[in-house]
Amino acid sequence: MMSESNSEQKIPVKQIHSKDKKVKVSGRRSTKHEKHRPRHRIYVRAVEGVYQSLRNRMNWVMMVSFMLLPWIHIDGRQSVFLDFANRQFHLFGLTIWPQDLMLLAFVFIIAAFSLFFFTTFLGRVWCGYWCPQTVWTFIFIWFEEKLEGPRNKRMRLDELPWDFNKLWRKTAKHVCWVGFSLFTALTFVAYFWGSHASFVGFFTGDMTFWPYFWTFFFTLATYGNAGWMRETVCLHMCPYARFQSVMFDQDTFTVSYDAARGEARGPRPRKKDPKELGLGDCIDCVLCVQVCPTGIDIRNGLQYECINCGACVDACDQTMDRMGYEKGLISYTTERQLAGGKTNIMRPKLLGYGMVLVIMITALIATAVGRDPLKLDVIRDRNMLSRLNEYGLMENVYTLKVLNKSQQVRDYQLSVQGIEGLEWSGEQVVTVEPGEVFSVPVSLAIDPYLLEKPITELEFVLIDDAGNRVVQESRFIKGR
Ligand code: SF4
Ligand code: SF4
Repeated sequence: MMSESNSEQKIPVKQIHSKDKKVKVSGRRSTKHEKHRPRHRIYVRAVEGVYQSLRNRMNWVMMVSFMLLPWIHIDGRQSVFLDFANRQFHLFGLTIWPQDLMLLAFVFIIAAFSLFFFTTFLGRVWCGYWCPQTVWTFIFIWFEEKLEGPRNKRMRLDELPWDFNKLWRKTAKHVCWVGFSLFTALTFVAYFWGSHASFVGFFTGDMTFWPYFWTFFFTLATYGNAGWMRETVCLHMCPYARFQSVMFDQDTFTVSYDAARGEARGPRPRKKDPKELGLGDCIDCVLCVQVCPTGIDIRNGLQYECINCGACVDACDQTMDRMGYEKGLISYTTERQLAGGKTNIMRPKLLGYGMVLVIMITALIATAVGRDPLKLDVIRDRNMLSRLNEYGLMENVYTLKVLNKSQQVRDYQLSVQGIEGLEWSGEQVVTVEPGEVFSVPVSLAIDPYLLEKPITELEFVLIDDAGNRVVQESRFIKGR
């Protein structure tokens, strides 16, 4: 129990008035206007290094592919064209129909298991290296840096009163952001409405309402997400950030700080031996925090905010180099390795995800390769199952739908088998344009005494001029 004299002892408290004071929190700066801001602004410091150059290269590949794909044509069609209006997806010469939904299902399953596999193996590398939110944010930061200068200059500029210099720099930055956002939106819309219709239609006023709507929507979304919201999207809006940790295990490679080697942290003269000073290898330069796009301090341990981008690894390696210490105080490593063990890569969970991935990719390829380039649907006339015609023959009426799933104009031959003596009325040879569905009304008639059963199975056969053949079952109803 506390004695009375002890309870009367007071801890000396010094009142700090925040008025007009700026409180610098490594990597973030709060001002008296902070309460009016939705979040603390993060001024990301640029850094160079192995992982940043890897990320930049991957981002270039992604960006150039995204921008160029709508302009590349295969067999006269846009290489990637998601034609919702005509319910067709064109992917590198392959046309996917609603009937081929199995292919799309495989694609989604492969995407999901790729995410599971890579998250279990390498943590959130998707977020750090491939996620459009990260890629676009870094592009916007690049514009910011080119027009407002490096991190310290940007922080100073934001605190200065408005003058011509600040005005033109900020204006130029926002013009670049909006311009790039518009270009992004037009490219995105081009995947659905076509590159020419999108880019030319937008500026000539030839677009209809929906392409205009989506162009403005995605321009606004890109500008808002990459320019203003940035890490807020990763921290508070992205569902992946919330559930990725369930896929982590002790052998998942994540960006980690080696606390055993780094602590106790603190500044020291370069030539002094840290051990003599009772210090670890971390010199507390906070570079790792300043370069972090989500504004966290990785020295506090694994945090869900970390997108595994490796910027802090490169920053710390630079510091280690400068100090003459061994690199890798912050590195891509596993919890087991940090604890002195050996990383187990061939573990059941990872092998399981990998096996499902291989099976699904094989199934996708097999389905795509084995896909029939033609399809036949048989629709019976529901209003009249059968009737006796004027010649005393029993008649059934069908509508045959011939779908040309190839990229060429094709001639098709139609026939029926399964019942001897059937008379065919209607076209038997039709020409169908690529991607078109051709409807052929057909009537089959037969002497009712030749039918032994009230319902007889039959098969419609469709053969194209390339020798591809499909068979569709149906029934002939004798009636009363
Ligand atoms: S960059 Fe490295 S040395 Fe500097 S504070 Fe971070 S962990 Fe410590
Ligand atoms: S802690 Fe390091 S790896 Fe994680 S987001 Fe920040 S800079 Fe990227």
